[in-house]
Amino acid sequence: MHTYVLPELDYGYSALEPYIPARALELHHLKHHAAYVAGANATISQLGRAREQSDFTTINQLEKSLAFHLSGHVLHSMFWRNLRPDGGGRPEHELLAAVEEHFGNFRAMQAQVNAAAMNIQGSGWAALSWDSIGERLLVEQIHDHQGNSEQGGIPLLVVDMWEHAYYLKYENRKGEWIDAFWNLVNWADVEARFTHARRLDLALLSPSH
Ligand code: MN
Repeated sequence: MHTYVLPELDYGYSALEPYIPARALELHHLKHHAAYVAGANATISQLGRAREQSDFTTINQLEKSLAFHLSGHVLHSMFWRNLRPDGGGRPEHELLAAVEEHFGNFRAMQAQVNAAAMNIQGSGWAALSWDSIGERLLVEQIHDHQGNSEQGGIPLLVVDMWEHAYYLKYENRKGEWIDAFWNLVNWADVEARFTHARRLDLALLSPSH
């Protein structure tokens, strides 16, 4: 058990230019992501105090705060690793085979991610996720950081569609931001997470499966 910590990035703040301006990346990491880390730690402390005092009058607010901040921390930690300078291209190996099996082809998966991202009502994310019970890839549209997502699904690749992710450069041109995102994707990272996610067994299926 440990305190949540803001992870270092594997690249400098200017490394993702011109797609993400250095100032935008710095603010996103040091201010926005850091706030989710602080919020998750604060909420864990508040839940501890509530248990000590046997006072759960604010339990609904605390559980929502935990889901929001902890999911914000998880998604941003993933998002930074999903990106790299000179990224882009397409997945290879088993991930490509899975994309082709579950979506038909890479372009079809990309089109669904784009549509999910473009059409989010309010703030959120689009994700390519592994559904552990159906053993298939899915596209999820995540509201805020924690809503509208399938239980048992593990995000592998996420695109931040909060205005703080793109507004400094792209203003209201969300489509340009999504196009830029695909030029930054670190497919080796997504493939590595896919390998880990596929090992997850929630023990929901009968042994004869
Ligand atoms: Mn963000």
